[in-house]
Amino acid sequence: MNDYEKSKRTVKLNVKKVSKRARELYAKYREQDRITERQLQALANEICKSLRIPQIKVMFIGRQPATFKMNPHSHQTVTTSKTLGSYCREPFNTSIIIYRYTAVKKKEVSPKTAINALLHEIMHHWDYEKLRVKKSKHTSGFYQRISLLKEMLSSPLESGDNQKQTRWEGLHPFYIDAKC
Ligand SMILES: [Zn+2]
Repeated sequence: MNDYEKSKRTVKLNVKKVSKRARELYAKYREQDRITERQLQALANEICKSLRIPQIKVMFIGRQPATFKMNPHSHQTVTTSKTLGSYCREPFNTSIIIYRYTAVKKKEVSPKTAINALLHEIMHHWDYEKLRVKKSKHTSGFYQRISLLKEMLSSPLESGDNQKQTRWEGLHPFYIDAKC
């Protein structure tokens, strides 16, 4: 089976729930006005621990790379793609970058945007560690696994693992990753 098929067919994760601490941080950080690199790192550590994959360095820096094109009818410039995060896989330097500022207005991204990007990049990390793919791909299975992770993170803190959660609303349609 090639990497694409492997990714597409894998619609489940290796665990059924994440730690209480991961759920607490997820709930708390999403509601804040701002989020810091340290907090994204703390959340990533808890998620990686729950998913039983090695921890990964998280950087919250820079401006989202974006590409633009001119709309021939309105003559206005439109953003055709934007990158919210990157996954860098190099020997001795495996890391995640979450871009801190928006491409156009150069405003700091919201905690929810940063966390969504973090989950996406952690899933690439999971692909390399658990599926052992050469290249992690954006397949339907990949997005289903992100939905699953999000459901686990938003399950109620008190107890219940069984309650039905709201569905993952999906990533930005233009989401792409930059190469490092
Ligand atoms: Zn990606």
